[in-house]
Amino acid sequence: MPVQKLTLAEPGQASAESGPGQAGAESGTTGRPPLHLADLDPGERRAAAERLGQQRFRGDQLSRHYFVRLTDDPDDMTDVPAAARGPLAEALLPRLLSAEQEFSCDQGQTRKTLWRAFDGAYVESVLMRYPGRVTMCVSSQAGCGMACPFCATGQAGLTRNLSAAEIVAQVVAGARTLAAGEVPGGPGRVSNVVFMGMGEPLANYPRVVAAVRRITDPAPDGLGISRRAVTVSTVGLVPAIGRLASEGLPVRLAVSLHAPDDALRDQLVPVNRRWKVAEVLDAAWEYAAATGRRVSIEYALIRDINDQAWRAEALAGLLAGHPAHVNLIPLNPTPGSKWTASEPDVMREFEQRLALRCIPVTVRDTRGTEIDGACGQLAAAGRAEVTPAGPLRPATAGGAEVTPADPLRPATVGGAEVTPADPLRPATAGPPRPAPAGG
Ligand code: SAH
Repeated sequence: MPVQKLTLAEPGQASAESGPGQAGAESGTTGRPPLHLADLDPGERRAAAERLGQQRFRGDQLSRHYFVRLTDDPDDMTDVPAAARGPLAEALLPRLLSAEQEFSCDQGQTRKTLWRAFDGAYVESVLMRYPGRVTMCVSSQAGCGMACPFCATGQAGLTRNLSAAEIVAQVVAGARTLAAGEVPGGPGRVSNVVFMGMGEPLANYPRVVAAVRRITDPAPDGLGISRRAVTVSTVGLVPAIGRLASEGLPVRLAVSLHAPDDALRDQLVPVNRRWKVAEVLDAAWEYAAATGRRVSIEYALIRDINDQAWRAEALAGLLAGHPAHVNLIPLNPTPGSKWTASEPDVMREFEQRLALRCIPVTVRDTRGTEIDGACGQLAAAGRAEVTPAGPLRPATAGGAEVTPADPLRPATVGGAEVTPADPLRPATAGPPRPAPAGG
C-alpha cells in the first residue's frame, strides 16, 4: 500500500489528552506544532500507521525507535521497509526542536540547551548529572502567564503551550546525549524529570499529563522513567491539582509557595489572588492523600522580603503535621532586579526554625546559575544572545521596574493586567511574535 503524508484534521482528536492541536488556539497564536508520535498513545500510533497505508504494528516499531533507541532517523529503521521509512518518519517523527545553543558548567555535568521550535518560539531544558542520578528540567510552555515578579520567565508573558511531544523531545534529547556518552561520567540514562523549566505545567494540563504518560510509560510505549521520579511544579492552580490527583499518576507535586501569608503571596505569586494559601495547601494535602506522595513546598528566599523569622514560624505552623518537604531556594536574581538572595545566616536560621518544628527541609542546590540555567532564568538570557539585534529586556514588568520597595507592582503580562479572577486566561499580550520572547 502506498504511504501518503499523514494529515489529521484535528491532530490528536482521538484523545483530548494527546493532541498538540490546541496549543495555538489557547495562546492566541495560529501556529500548531506538527503532530508527532509522542503526542499519541500507543493505540493512536497504530491507527496513525494504518491511516498512512501501513500495518498497525509499524506504530509500535516507530515507538521502539523513538523511545528505546532514541532515534528518529529513517536510516536507522532497518526493520521497516525502505520505501516506508521516510514517509513514516516524516509523518510521525518530525523534528520539533532544534538546538540553538548549548551551555555547560560543573565540568560538563550541567548542560542547558536553548531550543527553537517550529514557529521560532524559544524554550530551554537543563540536564543535571549527580552521583547516581540524572535530572532533566523541562519547559512546559514557551514563556509563562503567571507573572511572578521574581521569575525571569514570568516577566515576558506567555507565548504558547508546548505540545506533549515538544515536552517529551527535551527528555529524549537529554537521554540521547547521555546514551552517547557525551556527558562526563560515562554513558547513562535520565532518571528524573522535573517540570521546573519555563511555564506553568498545570496551565497546559492535557499536554503535560500526556507528556508525563509518554515519559513514564514502560518501554517501548514510552521512556520508562519511574513515575516517582517525576515532579510537577505549580504556582497552585487548585482545580488542576485536584484533577491531577485523580489521574492515577503518582508523580511528585511541588507547590511554589514562597510566602506563608496571603498579603505577600498575592504579590510574589499573583495567582494567589484567585486561590489563597489555605486553599492551595488543602489541595496539596488532598493530593498527598490521593497519591501517597509527600508534597514539596518551594520557597525562594528573597532578602528582606520573605525571609523573616516570623514567616519561618508561620510556614512551620501551616505545614506541621502534613506530608510536606520544604525546598528553600536562594533567590537567583533576574537581571536588573533589586531583589536578591537572603544572607547565608538568614537562610540558615530560616532552615533551622523549620527543622526545629520537625518540618523536613533542605536548601536546594543551585546548579546552573553560571549558565543562567537556574530557576527562572531560562531563555531570557538565551534570547538576548541569539537575537543580538533585539533589545536586551531589562527586569521590568509592565514598564515598572521590579524593586523590593515595590512588591505591590501590578501583575502585568505584556501590558495586560493579569486578572486574578481569570488566571488561566489565554495570553492576549499582543499579536503572535515570530521570534517570541521566552524569558
Ligand atoms: N510555574 C511552575 C514551574 C516553573 S519554575 C512553578 O511556579 O512552580 C520552578 C521553580 O523555580 C518555582 O518554584 C519558581 O517559583 C522558582 N523560581 C522562579 N524564578 C526563580 C528565581 N529567580 N529564583 C529562585 N527560584 C525561582
